[in-house]
Amino acid sequence: MNSIKTMENSAPAGLYIYVPFCRSKCAYCDFYSITDGSQAAGYLHALSREMEHYREFAPLFDTVYVGGGTPSCLDTGQLEELLHRVREAFPIAPNSEITVEVNPGDVDTVFMRGLRDAGVNRVSVGVQSFDDSILKSLGRRHNGREGREAVEAARAAGFANVGVDLIYGVPGQSHDLWQETMETALVFNPEHLSCYELTLEEGTPFHRRMERGEFSLPGEEEAYRFFSMTSAFLEQRGYTHYEVSNFARERALISRHNHKYWDHTPCLGLGPAAHSFNGTRRWWNHRSLEGYGRDVASGLAPVAGAEDLTPEELRLEALYFGFRTKRGIHGPEFRERYGIDLFREKGPALRCLRDEGLVTLDDEFMAPTRRGLALADRLCLL
Ligand code: SF4
Repeated sequence: MNSIKTMENSAPAGLYIYVPFCRSKCAYCDFYSITDGSQAAGYLHALSREMEHYREFAPLFDTVYVGGGTPSCLDTGQLEELLHRVREAFPIAPNSEITVEVNPGDVDTVFMRGLRDAGVNRVSVGVQSFDDSILKSLGRRHNGREGREAVEAARAAGFANVGVDLIYGVPGQSHDLWQETMETALVFNPEHLSCYELTLEEGTPFHRRMERGEFSLPGEEEAYRFFSMTSAFLEQRGYTHYEVSNFARERALISRHNHKYWDHTPCLGLGPAAHSFNGTRRWWNHRSLEGYGRDVASGLAPVAGAEDLTPEELRLEALYFGFRTKRGIHGPEFRERYGIDLFREKGPALRCLRDEGLVTLDDEFMAPTRRGLALADRLCLL
């Protein structure tokens, strides 16, 4: 399980680093993380050792994404050291997109300047909402003021590429409240917005409360109303709705790193629970710091499982990812890469989707409409 093939093409790869620490656990979250930040130094050491297993992964990387968890649980010295080790271990292109996720309440202008000094050129701020009651019900530690201050700090430190993450469909959140949160975000003119619908995984405190009947999530039609008002509002304000949950102020500001996942570009993931993909094979690390640290200390890559994707599985994934993007699927490219002429083999199903108003078709592209984007997960079943 620990012998990993290197990737088979030379497209610039993406590097993802998972930081498994949070100051507290949010009620809706099922990501792996621990609240004992005292383990950070040991974790950074383990990461360096994990990097050694993948020095030959790719001839070049042009995106680095430090996510979590909460990367801003680390101090800027630790983040600088981490990125220094990354540059020592891997060929990072000079024009790389280097993103760090931060949480309000952790960061100020000094912190943001530290990130800039470490070579970070994009921050993604986990605001989620600017409304205190919504933040409280989500179990977030920060309040709306701290959300605004975090984005202001990024601007004050000179970041020209700032992303804001928001959540809608929270119990008790009216359309007006959600609209206010979007309006507040736009005051800062963020280059990128991620607007996620709240979904609850089993085992989270929020899910248990829902099971007890304390609240319910919006049904399908109501969820679509949130989705379409978000899309319409942000497009009206000049943003491109380029992926189900993602908006960019201009094409050049689309997340280059995320795009690699949707495009089957190889990505290396380091840290507990991180996933990697080399073009045909996907593998994932242990979902606990203990299991991860144990393997790394024994000189092993901390891999918990892997799968080799068949050509059919790769095709299905490409359909799934393609219909989640506004660009859609380019027929000739798809045929070249995945060996199927969709227009010929799926013509009747595609025309059905077009007649239902879910996709548009032209000589080359099949692209989801707004309603199609909302149902993207089903379009790939054509
Ligand atoms: S939502 Fe973010 S901050 Fe909250 S527990 Fe999950 S990873 Fe940590």
